[in-house]
Amino acid sequence: MKFYVLTLFPEMIETALNTSIIGRAIDNGLIEIEAINIRDYTLDKHKKVDDYPYGGGAGMVMQAQPVYDAYMSIVDRVGERLPCIYLTPQGKTFNQQIARDLSKLDEVVLLCGHYEGIDERVLEEIVTDNISIGDFVVTGGELPAMMMIDAISRLVPGVLHNDDSTVQESFSNNLLEYPQYTRPEEWNGKKVPAILLSGDHAKVDEWRYEQSVARTRANRPDLLAE
Ligand code: SAM
Repeated sequence: MKFYVLTLFPEMIETALNTSIIGRAIDNGLIEIEAINIRDYTLDKHKKVDDYPYGGGAGMVMQAQPVYDAYMSIVDRVGERLPCIYLTPQGKTFNQQIARDLSKLDEVVLLCGHYEGIDERVLEEIVTDNISIGDFVVTGGELPAMMMIDAISRLVPGVLHNDDSTVQESFSNNLLEYPQYTRPEEWNGKKVPAILLSGDHAKVDEWRYEQSVARTRANRPDLLAE
């Protein structure tokens, strides 16, 4: 799967995603991430990409032209208008189901805003979906884009060593995952639940399911309702 990220801060994307599991997926050719610097496409001789908002108000707004030309540079290369997701607090809230759906795409463009956002006219021209990472405002779309890339990439077949780990984890079946334990058997006076040492897989599965339901009821009753 290939992610094109339109951003004013490509180095943020490139350095952060080059490590750990996603870094290995890139090395193995399962994932490709190309950060495109919107500033490279400005026609302004001072490389300016933002201006004051019409109507007044705080902050600056990213201009339409460089964003549009940066997106069209991808269209020209790949020969089609790829889906373009604008990261915005005004979008639909990202979740595991959206991650699953997006992991089936071959190519997608993620558009990161900055300052007060982006001129509405270019959003109307190129954006196919608006996605938020939650009901709060961060300074730019880069961190939200990186979170999405991480969540989507680990669902691409082959990225995790054991693809089964995404089948039972939190949000599959609308349940949170059961508690996990590893060696030693006793730590700080606390023992691992005996059932997990019993070797009885049916009983372990039953215990885990009960724990999942109890946790979900306690922490996220809205998921159970769904
Ligand atoms: N003025 C905008 C508003 O009130 O909707 C917020 C602009 S925000 C400071 C700058 C950029 O950060 C946005 O264009 C967007 O790309 C990104 N951003 C901020 N919060 C976000 C969120 N919750 N989810 C996704 N992107 C977000």
